[in-house]
Amino acid sequence: MNKFITLSVFSLFAVATATAQDAPKEYPKPERMRPGMSEYWTPQPKVVTPGNIATNSAPSDAIVLFDGKNLDAWKSSRTGEAAEWDVHDGVFTVNKTKGDIQTKDNFDSFQLHIEWMVPENITGKSQGRGNSGIFLQGMYEVQVLDCYDNETYVNGMTGSIYKQKAPMANVMRKPGEWNVYDIIYNSPVFNEDGTYKVHPKVTVIQNGCVIVNDYEIQGTTEYIGFPRVVKHGDGPIILQSHGDPSEPISFRNIWLRPL
Ligand code: MG
Repeated sequence: MNKFITLSVFSLFAVATATAQDAPKEYPKPERMRPGMSEYWTPQPKVVTPGNIATNSAPSDAIVLFDGKNLDAWKSSRTGEAAEWDVHDGVFTVNKTKGDIQTKDNFDSFQLHIEWMVPENITGKSQGRGNSGIFLQGMYEVQVLDCYDNETYVNGMTGSIYKQKAPMANVMRKPGEWNVYDIIYNSPVFNEDGTYKVHPKVTVIQNGCVIVNDYEIQGTTEYIGFPRVVKHGDGPIILQSHGDPSEPISFRNIWLRPL
């Protein structure tokens, strides 16, 4: 055995001896887990009174964007003045000559509830049949279209993230019946250079069915070309006046809960 090996063996022995001497004779036994050890009680979530299904009312903490009476929460995207779509019978209807309308307020992430109906006497086909849209933060369109017995390109169907993501199902109600969208939107986070650090994400529920599930939005909605990444902050909800020749669609019962 050479000197080095002798020294090493001795050192190991010395360390082992010291460790054995320093160690307590008996370690304390860990406390036995009880159910309460994995429960936490605070902070309690805020109390929200849910909407009444029978009367279609909004939850108590929602920002009501249309309650059947007026378009006070909206303005014209074209002029910035009062929104001039037609309010009647507790609903409002797209006015094709007045252009898009948008909320006066800007929003970050949110849950949006919105109901819409294409008229019973709808005409036209493909994209020219009950076309409107809901732009999230003014940038990303969730398509509104009559896809009941009306074929079109799938990434332009009802509930699609227009030109990006086709819906997983066609759950259209017939013309003359109300459709319900519940949209959950998480806003993007940008890098300094304007690229996405975190993409915007969206879930679309139509008539109780998830048709877009936590989709990572690729960029702006473009009719021609591909999505672009454009740095932005909070933005409005924009409703599209598409101007197709068919009868215009109506909206009602719109509310939003910031997330
Ligand atoms: Mg549209």
